[in-house]
Amino acid sequence: MDLDAIRADLEQIVRESDATIAVAEADEAEEAESPIDPDHNPEDIASETSEADREEALVEMAIVRKADAETALSRLDNGVYGVCIDCGEKITEARLEYRPEAARCLACQGKFEDAEG
Ligand SMILES: [Zn+2]
Repeated sequence: MDLDAIRADLEQIVRESDATIAVAEADEAEEAESPIDPDHNPEDIASETSEADREEALVEMAIVRKADAETALSRLDNGVYGVCIDCGEKITEARLEYRPEAARCLACQGKFEDAEG
């Protein structure tokens, strides 16, 4: 496993997530300055709302992903990277290649997501 490459990937994820969050925050500030026009077509308002929802979902994903990547980076520093935080088994390289920020093996991730609902 090439830990330097993984570190670079994780740092990239943090940067990308930061960029997503920053763009959304800038949009939000802009929207706050220009309240919705009362003469606005209701369909436009509806589409703006779903647009905002989508953006919010994206930002939430970015925040989670950034936190996961930062956690993975600290695990890399502590020499415990690539070990499942739940069962202590090694996470497969194929999984880490796909999701370098993964903190759980596939089985534990499945259980974790089931428990979350
Ligand atoms: Zn596990």
